[in-house]
Amino acid sequence: MLDIVRDTKQSAKKERVSIYQPEQDGLIFPEIPEFETVEQERAYRKKHLVAACRAFAQHGFDYGFAGHLTVRDPGRPELYWTNPMCVHFSQVRMSNLILADHKGHVVEGDYAINRAGFVLHGAVHEEYPDIVAMCHAHTTYGTAWCTTGRPLDMISQDAACFYNNHAVVGASAGAVAVEEGSGWSVAKEIGRNRGVLHQNHGLLTTSRHSIDDAAFWFIALERACQQQLLIEATGIKPQPVSQKTAEYSREHVGNDYIGWLHFQTLYGHIAATQPDMFA
Ligand SMILES: [Zn+2]
Repeated sequence: MLDIVRDTKQSAKKERVSIYQPEQDGLIFPEIPEFETVEQERAYRKKHLVAACRAFAQHGFDYGFAGHLTVRDPGRPELYWTNPMCVHFSQVRMSNLILADHKGHVVEGDYAINRAGFVLHGAVHEEYPDIVAMCHAHTTYGTAWCTTGRPLDMISQDAACFYNNHAVVGASAGAVAVEEGSGWSVAKEIGRNRGVLHQNHGLLTTSRHSIDDAAFWFIALERACQQQLLIEATGIKPQPVSQKTAEYSREHVGNDYIGWLHFQTLYGHIAATQPDMFA
């Protein structure tokens, strides 16, 4: 049921891309699977999209029907899978995902699509064909910090994962993104950064790697906003991370692979405790 290939004899032959990958043979460690068919890859992406939605539920990221997660279809890259409108993140499952085109037309699935989700996500996926996945939700701390119009300060190793890789976007600030023009103006900025703080609105993350990567860095971005608000509330001036340390953190513990790797912890927990996600 779990997609993680637990065989590091295989991984030992592969080139190590991270210091976190074990050098010792025979240890249990997540591996990015290799797919023999597009159907296998599609199923993998859909399962991990469902798990990402449920991880968002666990983190309390739901707000009515707001919030959309998308992952591009591996066989038809002009289409993307997304969570159905008005279904709680905790109730998203394999069978209620919908497949949509850039215009918001549902080509597979029974549920309606979220109009705001279509405008923003469709615009980003069309503008940046290499973006695989995208996440957006109206979270408490992210939305609160987004009101300041300020980027995050580099106050921790976790925040440093967003060093020179996040931006505040003021265009269409606070406006509900249901008009196509709004989506396009914001989309250009979104694709240049891992994370975007859309002023007076909320957080967005994108990934050129996987939905796992986009979802984990969304969780991390929300947490970084919470930490920044906490320290600001004390009135104590935090000691910043140096530029050199921030760059090191982003490269080694803040890359796409690390986002994917972090998410495997959440995937394993959700797959084991919520088997209805596969129904
Ligand atoms: Zn929104």
